[in-house]
Amino acid sequence: MSKPVIAIIGAGVSGLACARMLARAGLPFRIYEASDGVGGRIRSDRVDGFTLDRGFQVLLPSYPEARRVLDYEGLRLRPLYRGADVFFKNRFHRLADPFNHPLDAFLNLADDFIPWKDKWQTLVLWRESVDTLDIERRLPEMETEDYLRDFGFSEAMIERFFRPFFGGVFLEKDLRTSARMFLFLYSMFRRGGVAIPAAGMQSIPEQLAVALPPGSLLLNTPVSAVRRGEFILATGEVVHADHIILAVSEDAAHRLLPEGCQEKPRPGRGTTCLYFTTNQPLPKEPVLCLDGENRGPVNNACILSNAAPELAPPGWHLISTSIVGTPSSAELHDVVRDQMTRWFGEGALEWQHLRTYQVRNAQPEGRQLKLGDEALATVLEPGLYRCGDYVEDVSINGALVSGRKAAEAVMAALK
Ligand SMILES: Cc1cc2nc3c(=O)[nH]c(=O)nc-3n(C[C@H](O)[C@H](O)[C@H](O)COP(=O)(O)OP(=O)(O)OC[C@H]3O[C@@H](n4cnc5c(N)ncnc54)[C@H](O)[C@@H]3O)c2cc1C
Repeated sequence: MSKPVIAIIGAGVSGLACARMLARAGLPFRIYEASDGVGGRIRSDRVDGFTLDRGFQVLLPSYPEARRVLDYEGLRLRPLYRGADVFFKNRFHRLADPFNHPLDAFLNLADDFIPWKDKWQTLVLWRESVDTLDIERRLPEMETEDYLRDFGFSEAMIERFFRPFFGGVFLEKDLRTSARMFLFLYSMFRRGGVAIPAAGMQSIPEQLAVALPPGSLLLNTPVSAVRRGEFILATGEVVHADHIILAVSEDAAHRLLPEGCQEKPRPGRGTTCLYFTTNQPLPKEPVLCLDGENRGPVNNACILSNAAPELAPPGWHLISTSIVGTPSSAELHDVVRDQMTRWFGEGALEWQHLRTYQVRNAQPEGRQLKLGDEALATVLEPGLYRCGDYVEDVSINGALVSGRKAAEAVMAALK
């Protein structure tokens, strides 16, 4: 019997997770990737000895699928501080995770920039999210901001902490994202905090790609259209395949599929990340700094080299500053530097700007409002499958899950 021809279009983490499973099952396949490397939205660049992720991005080590699929030791994960420094009224206020940094939490109890009641409510929310990973499924569908208000958090807590923190995670500051997604992520943060690999975020897809069979990955090979049983490369070549897995972003899938196959996506959420460096003294902790005043443009910043010194040459700091959205301004790095002088002192005026990344479609809009059991169908029609974060939920975890499900669907069809 001749072997099935299986094609995966896209080498982001969803496509790679799918490929990994097919490879383990001994099934032959080929991956067609438009760009010059693996990773999709998780890419890193080497610039003057620094490793810069294309947009500020972290791994939540508690992600259940990531724990199953990734070798964390191999990634040399570098954790960030469990908590945040919130800039409010001319200084930083520390919000520490009381279970991981009890002394910091105790020392900051008297700081009343967050009302007492909210400190207590935070503990109640922690207890809510401790028991089960399934918590989001029991919750009626509602927006995060409404959920936080209903839960009893004050305006001060929402404005000073939840809006900048989860605004930076969701890439939208109205907190209209599903409360289910919020609780899932809250539970992940609580369980395992956040971390970055020592060699940058791209080492995650690179690890997934390491065991690919030789010759199975075709880079710089964009696909221009997909039809049942075949697809067309940008060169015009037609490739026949028994099973085609579309592992591209939502808007790319819409462009590739025949009309009517997939709804037109709403515009995605964007983000801007500006990297700076200095060799002058800076705070030493790997803590996420938040704009508690909502003045912007920077929503969050982090001295990444405090967590992972490997990301910068010896003696140099790597500072990441993130904006929600993609504002266009030639002077953006000067405006950001000004804001950073308020946060870190006059020394920030001397910071060298390394690079700015603007990612327009960092996260799809639509799937933020659904999660888990409401995932989109993997099988579009016999022999045509899709995976990607927009199919499951918008996270590295969701992309990995969707890739696994696509591989399972192919294997089920082959039985
Ligand atoms: C700046 C930023 C910050 C983020 N922060 C976080 C975070 O902190 N935590 C988290 O969990 N998630 C985060 N995410 C989301 C996470 O990165 C994505 O959910 C995940 O990477 C999506 O993977 P994917 O495989 O679904 O899609 P993609 O990564 O988009 O992969 C699709 C692949 O398909 C290829 N492709 C597209 N069109 C074609 C074509 N025509 N022919 C061939 N190949 C094609 C693309 O080149 C790409 O390689 C962030 C994303 C961004 C951009």
